[in-house]
Amino acid sequence: MAANKKLLVLPGDGIGPEVMWEVRRIIDWMDRRRMVSFDVSEDLVGGAAIDARGVPITEETLESAKQADAILFGSVGGPKWDKLGFDMRPEIAILSLRKQLDLFANLRPATVLDPLVDASTLKADVVRGLDIMIVRESTGGIYFGEPRGVETLPDGQQRGFDTETYTTSEIERVARVAFELARQRQNRLTSVEKANVMQSGLFWRQVVTALHQREFADVELSHMYADNCAMQLVRNPRQFDVIVTSNIFGDLLSDLASMLTGSLGMLPSATLGAPDATGRRRALYEPIHGSAPDIAGKGLANPLAQILSFAMLLRYSFGMAEDAALIERACTNVLASGLRTADIMATGTARVGTGVMGESILRELDKLAA
Ligand code: NAD
Repeated sequence: MAANKKLLVLPGDGIGPEVMWEVRRIIDWMDRRRMVSFDVSEDLVGGAAIDARGVPITEETLESAKQADAILFGSVGGPKWDKLGFDMRPEIAILSLRKQLDLFANLRPATVLDPLVDASTLKADVVRGLDIMIVRESTGGIYFGEPRGVETLPDGQQRGFDTETYTTSEIERVARVAFELARQRQNRLTSVEKANVMQSGLFWRQVVTALHQREFADVELSHMYADNCAMQLVRNPRQFDVIVTSNIFGDLLSDLASMLTGSLGMLPSATLGAPDATGRRRALYEPIHGSAPDIAGKGLANPLAQILSFAMLLRYSFGMAEDAALIERACTNVLASGLRTADIMATGTARVGTGVMGESILRELDKLAA
């Protein structure tokens, strides 16, 4: 398969560059073995950019991000920059990217790979084979809604308030992403809100229902209250295929769902924007974990979340589902062979560092592609 794909790589701080290096080796492998040609450029973000250029992300980097077909982000932050003012914090890099590229749909898969079934705090029988995708609206809702603030009331006490607000188009665009994902998976979507007690929740349900009837009648749609969804995710998580929900409920439910899988070092994510006139969607892919300053520079980090983020990028931005599946299979096989980084160690497995894990995945790719 020949292709020319513009990929912007932003490794960031701490373990970011270490785990990203293992992705670069896979990209080189693909260049060599599968004749896919990526147009890769790399840039500084976060603390690394503050040290070199005085800001967490430059205008030039934001511009390259806008021009890229996809962005692979590592992680930013660390104690060295903790005392800087809010506008100068390394995290501004990721916040600016999400805002300027209008990335409104956050995709968080919760997948349990067979060799790691015992890493979950839930019983193996409950999570074996788990494969859920949570789509969280990430630029609207109560975290951004106006009015918000703290006011003093006539009787002298104070009152704090935030506003949950969603427009028709904000709901439709994120629901559309979720319906389309469902079509590529098991064709089932659960829309989650609190239509029983919130006006905005009832409105969410009406908009999703109308969109379903208009454009996605072939997808099986159900609705669920957010509190029940939290309960069902722990009771019987495999009942779900794709879940779509608001910013605040998605924040809570996606954290809950990701912990069903047992390890931070294994979890990828994507954040997508709207398609442009040519159908190209802006998209950023990153692991859930941060820069892990406690283990940075020691060669201990698990590179799998970063590698699996790259697999998501191939699937959702470059239409390379087969290549994505190949990388995911290589990761599963290496884990099944008993190799583990420290964060996912279990009895009877062998502990390896970042480099050996990456190397083992390359060797597995060699075998699978032979
Ligand atoms: P963290 O995710 O960096 O680390 C939490 C714990 O998990 C640590 O013990 C760490 O060693 C471990 N861990 C994380 N990723 C791992 C991996 N790949 N392999 C093995 N172990 C791993 O979260 P934190 O400690 O709360 O934050 C550290 C820094 O990262 C902070 O500056 C924070 O602001 C930043 N952060 C950045 C992002 C991002 O860039 N999107 C996200 C979260 C946190």
